[in-house]
Amino acid sequence: HYEIIANPVTEKDKIAGAVIIIVDVTEKEQRERLRREFTSNVSHELKTPLTTIYGVSDMMAEGIVKQADVKSFGKNIKEESGRMINLIEDIIKLSKLDEDSFPEEYARIDLLETVKSVVERLSMKAEERNVQIFMEGEHAFINGIPSLCSEIVYNLCDNAIKYNKENGSVIIYVRDLHEGVTLTVEDTGIGIPFEYKERIFERFFRVDESHCQQVDGTGLGLSIVKHAVSHMGGTIKVESAEGIGTKMIVTFPH
Ligand code: ADP
Repeated sequence: HYEIIANPVTEKDKIAGAVIIIVDVTEKEQRERLRREFTSNVSHELKTPLTTIYGVSDMMAEGIVKQADVKSFGKNIKEESGRMINLIEDIIKLSKLDEDSFPEEYARIDLLETVKSVVERLSMKAEERNVQIFMEGEHAFINGIPSLCSEIVYNLCDNAIKYNKENGSVIIYVRDLHEGVTLTVEDTGIGIPFEYKERIFERFFRVDESHCQQVDGTGLGLSIVKHAVSHMGGTIKVESAEGIGTKMIVTFPH
């Protein structure tokens, strides 16, 4: 799409000609469309839990909740508000990444140490799902932003646990190669249908809404990962087979 701007050129108060500027606004329009979609998605995603919280607390305020049910009503409010907090935290992360300069300093990071601390944070969750986590690799250093690196590793490992099968496993490798430092997170989970291999990185995209309904998530994790990886000059690649598993490979420059 083009926008045409015509400006007359005057000489001694007479119109002597015109300057016509043709601007390609395709990208601008696309940005605008994405922004509108984002706002509408956010409003929807926030309204759903808030409606539940409102309904439940309204019944409690009216005094029509039996004493025996108070606990489960409280649990409901806690879960729904937890979902809202996760969503808002993810939006804050994305908006920080959208700024030209990320407000944190680069540092030398041992990726294997980052993986170890993330695995520790996720160990309870893995246990609950009967998923085993294996780590392999060597100490490998990159020049990156520590909080973003943890975020990348956390989101990929969290997904590898969430979308795994009962008794499944997750294998994480860190390798120092000639082309860069690679982080590979491989799972034995449900896999990603081929046609969605790119779309999973879009904001709010979740493969199968009915399945995802049972799995907690905002649909923002992988878009944060992709943004964070490219912010630090890296790349991300997906290999997946439905029903067999998924492998996410991130390469960071040295
Ligand atoms: P979510 O908060 O839903 O986990 P993400 O942005 O992290 O959002 O992922 C987007 C979607 O991609 C998920 O909803 C899921 O359908 C799919 N997905 C991501 N990682 C995996 C994986 N390891 N195995 C299978 N599907 C995955």
